[in-house]
Amino acid sequence: MTTTRPVALVTGASSGIGKETARAFVAAGFEVIGTGRRTSGLTPPAGVTYLDLDVGSDDSATAAVREVIDRFGRIDVLVNNAGIGSAGAVEENSVTQAQNVLNINVLGVVRMTKAVLPHMRAQGGGRVINISSVLGVAPQPFMALYVASKHAVEGYSESLDHEVREHGVRVLLVQPAYTRTSFDTNATQPDTPLPLYAERRRVFDEVMADAMKGGDDPAVVAKVIVAAATDKKPK
Ligand code: NDP
Repeated sequence: MTTTRPVALVTGASSGIGKETARAFVAAGFEVIGTGRRTSGLTPPAGVTYLDLDVGSDDSATAAVREVIDRFGRIDVLVNNAGIGSAGAVEENSVTQAQNVLNINVLGVVRMTKAVLPHMRAQGGGRVINISSVLGVAPQPFMALYVASKHAVEGYSESLDHEVREHGVRVLLVQPAYTRTSFDTNATQPDTPLPLYAERRRVFDEVMADAMKGGDDPAVVAKVIVAAATDKKPK
């Protein structure tokens, strides 16, 4: 099956910002494929096709892109939204925790982008929208792994944008601030918390929970993402 509508592939569309983004692309007239690690049993938003994808796996990334191309014929927009938080002091974060966060937040973007770029070039253009964070350009104690991952996404995206522009492909960043999703409860936690940091962590967790509660509506962030993909002002 091919489609006459532009095609948007949104990773991490089973919840939060990604789910709202998938909805917003449908409203903007796109054919929308939303992904998550286990989408069977989940009800997608109206008009969205769900597909399983673990951005932490090379095979899963290439298989998902292949399936979208086979079914819909093209990918006009890739939104690299899938991501996880990481909590804890640097001394508490194991190398395994670091590998996990960087594998999803950074290499997930790399895998998906590499899989999609040849198709965008061949079809004469496209957009890659990478979901960074305000923490992609600022520090935050007790979230160093996450901050490092988003800073990496920033540098990767801006460098790539200069490489592929001449092929009609743009690579753009969206930097949400606190947004009301399950992001903080889904964050990876240190395996071995140290008593030395317990009090500061308690205060940090309280401040973070308050900031998330008062954060932006994910539907508003979604409109900004669609605007970045279409050059139309958010309504
Ligand atoms: P959620 O936890 O609600 O959503 C995260 C999404 O990522 C889920 O759909 C999850 O799907 C998916 N995901 C996680 N790991 C993987 C994986 N290995 N492979 C594929 N999908 C995966 O959080 P948000 O909606 O808040 O986060 C979305 C993005 O926004 C992230 O990149 C985050 O860093 C960024 N962001 C969030 C902010 C906030 O305050 N909420 C602020 C700034 C940026 P599933 O579990 O089904 O696989």
